[in-house]
Amino acid sequence: MQFADRLNNIETSAIRELFKLLGKPGIISFAGGFPDSALFDVEGVRAASLRALSETPGAALQYGATEGYQPLREQLAAFMTGKGARDLAAENLIVTTGSQQALDLLGKTLISPGDKVIVEGPTFLASIQCFRLYGAELISAPIDGDGVRTDALERLIAEHRPKFVYLIPTFGNPSGALLSLERRRQVLEMAVRHETLIVEDDPYGDLYFGADPPPPSLLNLSAGVPASRALLAHCGSLSKVLAPGLRVGWMVAPAELLDKASMCKQFSDAHTSTYAQATAAQYLGSGRMPATLAHVRAVYAERARTMGEALRRELGDAIAFTPPRGGLFMWLRLTGAGGKVTDGSLLAQRALEEGVALVPGAPFFCAQPDKATLRLSFATADGEQIRAGVARLGQAI
Ligand code: PMP
Repeated sequence: MQFADRLNNIETSAIRELFKLLGKPGIISFAGGFPDSALFDVEGVRAASLRALSETPGAALQYGATEGYQPLREQLAAFMTGKGARDLAAENLIVTTGSQQALDLLGKTLISPGDKVIVEGPTFLASIQCFRLYGAELISAPIDGDGVRTDALERLIAEHRPKFVYLIPTFGNPSGALLSLERRRQVLEMAVRHETLIVEDDPYGDLYFGADPPPPSLLNLSAGVPASRALLAHCGSLSKVLAPGLRVGWMVAPAELLDKASMCKQFSDAHTSTYAQATAAQYLGSGRMPATLAHVRAVYAERARTMGEALRRELGDAIAFTPPRGGLFMWLRLTGAGGKVTDGSLLAQRALEEGVALVPGAPFFCAQPDKATLRLSFATADGEQIRAGVARLGQAI
């Protein structure tokens, strides 16, 4: 079959290939990016979905507005306001089919073939693929323990004049990195200085460990940086905190961008499932979210701690990592100490033979991959599996 030229630059992801092997019995997986389905608030979602059907059957089962189900838009605006967003009304956001669709709509509305987009190195693999599908030339901005290096980012913006900069400032996928408060302000200031759109992808911000939330999102901070709100698109999602199967995400953006994105969404899926939206609206209105968040945070924090301790014990100085302060991921760098392996792909292969799956870091870079990196998720394995899996990784290394 003759496929469109735009598919020429896209490869099936190395990670997808690896997932095919995960069905093997006895494998302990640190490979996926899924939340733990055992943590879903099934009772709460069931009750919300029943209320959606009994109280608003027409809305829940009929076609709906492309911008989203109004009661959900209002609940989402209230949810974000509760977390510190200012001057946010239902009209400032649209509901998307997962935040993945928001990324797709940004690609569709903003990228012409050959346009440049700056992403972090490393970044979310599906965003690399999605922006490339629209013909973007991706530029990689380096990160360190405090997230994207803003000195380098500003140089890249000035040199390349990108269509937008895509960042995951809070507990990045795959890096787990947390952008410091100072750098967040710098990002907003440079957006204004260079008139560059910043896309803040924030599916993990609610998953912080310990008592203290991370620094405010770029969206929340934009209230204090004049003119920055007009240069910011913020993507949110219920996937990691409630249930990815609902496919409920959203995007806050300037009105003209929301208009164009809604137009494109109309031709794509007409609207996000009204049943899922009505269920999500009921759920957010039920008051259960704070307890659900507290529970998932506590479980993931404990698993992250268990994995960190096991890694130090079993792999010692053969690896370096910064213990994540939230999210789902641990990002490792092979140091080569003691003559040990420094190739993440090789180690991932050997680890699979030992019965533990993790993903090499290289595919998460759009350029100059750091081949000594690996991503491990601590989200879905329990404490015992984490200790056993890391011990297998110790054997593999
Ligand atoms: N952005 C990032 C950084 C992600 O890690 C993911 C999911 N892995 C998504 C967006 C998409 O999530 P969803 O479409 O389920 O909201």
